[in-house]
Amino acid sequence: MLEDKNQGRTSLEKLGEFGLIDHLTKEFTIQHESTVKGIGDDAAVLDFKYKKTVLSTDLLIEGVHFDLSYVPLKHLGYKAVVVNLSDIYAMNATATQITVSIAVSNRFPLEAIEELYAGIALACKKYKVDLIGGDTTSSTTGLLISITAIGEANEENIAYRKGAKPNDLLVVSGDLGGAYMGLQVLEREKEVFKVNPNSQPDLEPYSYIVERQLKPEARKDISGLLQVLGVQPTSMIDISDGLSSEILHLCKNSDVGCNLYEDKIPLDPTVISACEEFNIDSTMVALSGGEDYELLFTVAQSDFDKIKGNPNLSIIGHMTDASEGAHLITRGDTKIPLTAQGWNSFESE
Ligand code: ADP
Ligand code: MG
Repeated sequence: MLEDKNQGRTSLEKLGEFGLIDHLTKEFTIQHESTVKGIGDDAAVLDFKYKKTVLSTDLLIEGVHFDLSYVPLKHLGYKAVVVNLSDIYAMNATATQITVSIAVSNRFPLEAIEELYAGIALACKKYKVDLIGGDTTSSTTGLLISITAIGEANEENIAYRKGAKPNDLLVVSGDLGGAYMGLQVLEREKEVFKVNPNSQPDLEPYSYIVERQLKPEARKDISGLLQVLGVQPTSMIDISDGLSSEILHLCKNSDVGCNLYEDKIPLDPTVISACEEFNIDSTMVALSGGEDYELLFTVAQSDFDKIKGNPNLSIIGHMTDASEGAHLITRGDTKIPLTAQGWNSFESE
């Protein structure tokens, strides 16, 4: 009776807050011993024994951080979890639990929120994290999602933004610029759709970059990989805003400078071809595109042999004395100061 069979739309009002929470969370199971009490009491209880606890939180607002006209709710739920886990991995820690809080307007039927939670559940399963609580409330306008991710690490393994030393190698996981170029493709299709709602976009040639945008993955594997290689990063950050901005964070927090080599920046062939098609400079995209959720870190020069040739990792530069500043060394051997926006083309030295 709650459900209008013709529409498949169940009103949230009829379900009520507690009914909704129950319905959304009943399929989630606990996988970690550190979760002593999950959903169902006034607070969750965790026990990390001798390990340190790492915690990070994010707030996502419809119309500011996501646009439901081209982001399916399931993808949104998945991505919201993944970007939070990325912050935990960026501490060289293991993610173990999340809380999810949502504010929803009546314009969303239960089925929409179910989609959102299907994405959240998928991420919890894939990344092996327990959903241990949250809050549910109504909103007068759009959808709001806040996720808190919790993780654990041995104290000596935690990597901060501070800690890089001059001569340390600058290393990045995976490849860059895909998420930004995926967004360009999606936005172009959205404009085409506005003009011709019957158009069927062929996104197949762009599947890698569209996926990087809609279904990004966090680098759960890197902390374990570094452990196996016997490498303790001296500093670490995840790439949410673009390589340039993250390098500057490491430099500022560690009080060092940096030389980044343009020819070392890892780019997928699909990103290069999309850049050609959209007439955008691929280095600019890597530097300021953002949302790749790869990890950027520094290691001691003496760890070079352990890192070199690893297919997951690229050495893209090295840290310098703070007085030298942060620069991009171009393919043409020009030294250009890095800025939070990418680079400053008017300040070539
Ligand atoms: P309280 O009134 O103490 O805030 P709630 O009724 O809001 O408790 O929540 C009951 C339980 O359900 C708590 O364990 C809470 O963490 C969990 N919970 C509430 N909303 C959500 C949600 N959107 N996702 C996951 N768990 C939730
Ligand atoms: Mg509550």
